[in-house]
Amino acid sequence: MSMHCKLSSACALLAALLTPILLAQRPNADLVLLHGHILTADGSDSVAQAIASRHGIIVKVGTDAEVLEFAGNVPGMRIIDLHGHTATPGLIDTHAHIAEGGVEELYGVKLSDATSVAEIVARVKAKIALVKPGEWVTGSGWDEGKLTERRYVTAADLDAVAPNNPVWLMHTTGHYGVANSFALKLAHITGDAADPTAGTIDRDARGNPTGVLKEDSAMEPVTRLIPPTTPEQMRQGILYIQKVLHSEGITAVKDPDITQVHWDAYKSLLDEGQLKERVCVLWHAGATLESARKALAEIKSVPRAPASLGSDRLLSCGVKIYMDGSGGARTGWVYEDWLLNGTRPDVTSSGVANRGYPQVDPMVYQQMVRLFHQEGVPVGTHAVGDRAMDWVVDTYALVEQEQPHAGLRHSIIHANLPTPHALEVMVNLQKKYDAGYPEMQPGFLWWIGDIYAASYGPKRGQHLEPLKTLLSRGILWSGGSDYFVTPVAARYGLWASTARQTAKGAYGLHPFGMTEAVDIHTALRSYTAWGSRQMFLENKIGTLEVSKKADIAIWDRDLYAIPTDQIKKLKCLMTLVDGEIVYSSPDSPVTTSVR
Ligand SMILES: [Zn+2]
Ligand SMILES: [Zn+2]
Repeated sequence: MSMHCKLSSACALLAALLTPILLAQRPNADLVLLHGHILTADGSDSVAQAIASRHGIIVKVGTDAEVLEFAGNVPGMRIIDLHGHTATPGLIDTHAHIAEGGVEELYGVKLSDATSVAEIVARVKAKIALVKPGEWVTGSGWDEGKLTERRYVTAADLDAVAPNNPVWLMHTTGHYGVANSFALKLAHITGDAADPTAGTIDRDARGNPTGVLKEDSAMEPVTRLIPPTTPEQMRQGILYIQKVLHSEGITAVKDPDITQVHWDAYKSLLDEGQLKERVCVLWHAGATLESARKALAEIKSVPRAPASLGSDRLLSCGVKIYMDGSGGARTGWVYEDWLLNGTRPDVTSSGVANRGYPQVDPMVYQQMVRLFHQEGVPVGTHAVGDRAMDWVVDTYALVEQEQPHAGLRHSIIHANLPTPHALEVMVNLQKKYDAGYPEMQPGFLWWIGDIYAASYGPKRGQHLEPLKTLLSRGILWSGGSDYFVTPVAARYGLWASTARQTAKGAYGLHPFGMTEAVDIHTALRSYTAWGSRQMFLENKIGTLEVSKKADIAIWDRDLYAIPTDQIKKLKCLMTLVDGEIVYSSPDSPVTTSVR
């Protein structure tokens, strides 16, 4: 009570008189979820029946009776009857390129479900019919591991249907793509063109470019010619993907590698009240000290996590740097040779064994990380290869030793193949500095698992995404899709964490073994509680507990009780963000009413 009372008896009397009035004005709860099977993901993984929230904050978790008694009989209170269905915290994806992916889905040629080169060519042909000669046609999502021909799409394939338009089709990994001859010509890429230092121009037996270009420095001469996404397209892309996220029970995402245009789109949607997803971004830091300083200036112009805009809807969570390339393109920086088809060593066009390469000068990388660290900016580094990952964790350890700054939570993005050394360093970083967290994509084992099996081979494959080892060492990690590398639905990652199964089984369904699989309880934690830490929101989301936000996903089955293969088929029935229903499946058996 705000007023001063001098006599305690008078105070008691006043309180007794005011209490009913206050209760009427300020009900204990404005929303209750009842008759559920609620997996809270709290410290003891407890299961509840009911939840009450007020103004989007959870105020009570317990049995139906406990929650109803707490909430009282308040007119106007919303009631969601789960009819026994399972609820979890809203899922968190700590690595998904949602803005870019949404734009691709809306405006590009979609190739992620293509099963042959002919099908890809046919889709490009259909798009060409809709545009004028000379106009760009772009697409994304192809993966030779899923094509019957098991080979790259080439310029020659595309030239047959696109002689008068430039075409660029990005591979599902985002680390390589194919241009047709029209586009190669515009970019001046000919047989004479030398490979850039951190990129590869794929060539045929006679040394002519096939159209496939790997990593930014090789792709950039083509991709920089593509007309940029307009601000309105960016906004539409985000709104599109937001709907998909809600329909999959995902309520928070870390969008890495963004620039001002992405931020502005998020911000304008937030200002209009249209951003109903929690988004935390990593700014593109480039590969030079100059680009790092530019990113720093952008970061300094906005509030920094854990501060947020729109009550934890939009957060600036640090920067992204690429240490190396991809496992699919065999451009990741590794200690042992990349393999072709899982057996023979891959050899570069200059005849040497291919062990990939760094995307940034390792010493420059160190300076970039030092710069950000000393400014208190969290760093997320893309590291696919074991050699890249060692360099990244050692750099984090170095800058923390130089100037300790606990709580920046520097992360290792992908962290496919940690060495024993990297494991050791991560244990220390997490314990001493609250840093060194792997942001993993178990779904890689599935969606690009066949090309992974081909590139890593059977021996290394056993240690890919070693979740069980991380768990046994006490290393926390968080889950993600790396959308559009893999589909955005987190149920796939939950499933892949437990199943370690490839999409096509080209090298058997379990070329990575089962030793490193974890159970669904652990997998869920990596997409909820542990994920929230990497968004600096661990006190607000990630578990269903009193004082956390009412970000809740409701499912058609109990993920703790179903056989593993069904986890992939989970269907989201309803999604709430801050207690607001942002998605309800058309045939949902969950009912809502107002008291
Ligand atoms: Zn990456
Ligand atoms: Zn990524």
